[in-house]
Amino acid sequence: MMSEQVMHETVAEYFGCNVFNDTVMRERLPKSAYKAVVRTKELGTALSPEVADVVANAMKDWAIEHGATHFTHWFQPMTGVTAEKHDAFVSPAPHGRVLLEFSGKELVKGEPDASSFPSGGLRATFEARGYTAWDPTSDAFIKDDSLYIPTAFCSYTGEILDKKTPLLRSMEVLSEQALRILRLFGNTRATRVTTTVGPEQEYFLVDKKYYDQREDLVITGRTLFGAKPPKGQELEDHYFGNIKQRVSDFMKELDRELWKLGVYAKTKHNEVAPAQHELAPVFTTSNIAADHNQLTMELMKKIALRHGLVCLLHEKPFAGINGSGKHNNWSMSSNDGQNLLDPGETPQDNMQFLTFLCAVIKGVHEYAPLLRLSAASAGNDHRLGANEAPPAVVSMFIGTELEEVIEALESGKKYVSSTAEFDIGVDALPNFTKDTTDRNRTSPFAFTGNKFEFRMLGSADSISCTNTILNTIIAEELSQFADELEKADDFDAALHELLVRTIREHKQIIFNGDGYSDEWLEEAKRRGLPNLVSTTDAVPEYTRPEFVAMFEKFKVYTKVEIESRTEILLENYAKVINIEALTMLDMARKQILPTAVRVTKEVCDAALSKQSLGLDNSYEVGHASELSALTQSIAAAVTALDDKVVAAQGIEDTKAMAKFCRSDVFVAMQTLRGFVDQLETRVSSRDWPMPSYTDLLFTV
Ligand code: ADP
Ligand code: MG
Repeated sequence: MMSEQVMHETVAEYFGCNVFNDTVMRERLPKSAYKAVVRTKELGTALSPEVADVVANAMKDWAIEHGATHFTHWFQPMTGVTAEKHDAFVSPAPHGRVLLEFSGKELVKGEPDASSFPSGGLRATFEARGYTAWDPTSDAFIKDDSLYIPTAFCSYTGEILDKKTPLLRSMEVLSEQALRILRLFGNTRATRVTTTVGPEQEYFLVDKKYYDQREDLVITGRTLFGAKPPKGQELEDHYFGNIKQRVSDFMKELDRELWKLGVYAKTKHNEVAPAQHELAPVFTTSNIAADHNQLTMELMKKIALRHGLVCLLHEKPFAGINGSGKHNNWSMSSNDGQNLLDPGETPQDNMQFLTFLCAVIKGVHEYAPLLRLSAASAGNDHRLGANEAPPAVVSMFIGTELEEVIEALESGKKYVSSTAEFDIGVDALPNFTKDTTDRNRTSPFAFTGNKFEFRMLGSADSISCTNTILNTIIAEELSQFADELEKADDFDAALHELLVRTIREHKQIIFNGDGYSDEWLEEAKRRGLPNLVSTTDAVPEYTRPEFVAMFEKFKVYTKVEIESRTEILLENYAKVINIEALTMLDMARKQILPTAVRVTKEVCDAALSKQSLGLDNSYEVGHASELSALTQSIAAAVTALDDKVVAAQGIEDTKAMAKFCRSDVFVAMQTLRGFVDQLETRVSSRDWPMPSYTDLLFTV
């Protein structure tokens, strides 16, 4: 709960109060140690053991003053959520007293016994134990009386076992390659390029008392049954609607708690679906954004409970109602203060911008399957391509203005805007503001003025995988560009030729129309753009030799690591489907079929009593036969699903098992659901064994 003290402080006073941030370090560290930490943060150089001890000690003192008793290395294993193991600062001292200790070694490296985390077979072949290593670029913080130290997680033989390490590596390689391009444009000041991300997070809030009565929500995070409510989202009265008091109280507390942790929570509003909301932070460095997004998701869940609510982060909690996504706004900025995706104000800036833009166009075109698979999960399969989220085909939206600029560049003609004519490379171009034609949100990868917005991610996803992939593919394109341009005698001519060629070869990825239309799917096929509909189509693409080669070139992943990640993703998919199927069977057998039998009997009894009195019982007879037929269908669908679950469990190969889950188990689940949802509409709400969609969606 909020302490009284914080209630009366202004945001500026308590913002970041639980973070061991730059201000605190400057205050508490000796100058030389502070400088060493700054160097480590900026250049990634290791801290000497002596300095690490000094920092650890200052951190411990600060943490204890703020009520912390424990510390934990906080990491992001392949589960997609975070993991932590807490150790108290206490050490025994003579005379039954206690010493509070925390060494540089404990700060820099931890050894969780983490052998139960998914490793996709990595640790079977290598080393059973892993270690965590401090990521000094992401600030330590206090939560629940523990000092949290953001860390990366690796095995002793060096294989990476988490989502942070590859992200950090990808940021490093992007920086190197982007700097090569900046140098070619005569920039000698910039020494580092960072990638920035602002993830917009969607979520649902439902009443805990209803949530608790739904086994499917409790176990799987989504409703596996549920008839369509009479009112859904068709009136569009929820989007940006006024926020109900209970939700508003939740949002206020969430903001405060996030601000205390240094998270720049910025925008909050109601979303399209009833009971759906969104939170967007101010963008920050990718790895910090990833850490903060994990904290945001965690706090959403925790704080909702304090308000008698449950926060659903599942991508599709309700059939027929929009699901939740996470828009990954992404850009690159150099430490001399430029956003590299900002068109800029001089012809020189424009050409630099167009170079980075072309690298993104080429990267998205060549590596579309990687971006697609970075958003692949059993939950997100319900959204992508379902006319509420982008289609499963990756394409790129750059807006009409920018498309005209690119066309002009390719054709060598002048660019004619509504106000004037421009000679590209000679004149300064007008600023491309966010294109208003992009209101429909159907593009998976949209240019929005000075950043790109990747819209495929699911609400529950970690943003790390997407950003690791994005950074690496852009690094690859920039390195190809740099290789070519560094050799050129005439830079301007070579650049022009390179950009024109890139546009010519890769403009098929650009599509400014309606991504939900069937015509687009046809058109995309003609353009040779892959349509990887499900997780089981997308994930196996990971191991394509040219993709593996790219990751290995930049040492972001090794082949073995990619194989293990592929295995984990497919295994996870199969597990989720299996759990969902088992939950459905359990609910059908223990709640739904018994209800069906009881209700049918009641109606049959009524029909018989009416008959004995010589009354017209045609309604009762008709109703009873309808109920009876549905009961039989449900029973048959239960048996069929059960058979499929057993068959899936017998498949050895992970990929084959995942594919079978999709083609057979999932389909059998849909059939069962169809009959049950029909039954729900035929049974009085008093008799139905669980809260309805209306209860869940309209009562908060
Ligand atoms: P929308 O219309 O999609 O809601 P907003 O303008 O509200 O878009 O911005 C969405 C997100 O984009 C915010 O989190 C914002 O901080 C982020 N953003 C803005 N500029 C950048 C940038 N240069 N790099 C990364 N993210 C950015
Ligand atoms: Mg957005």
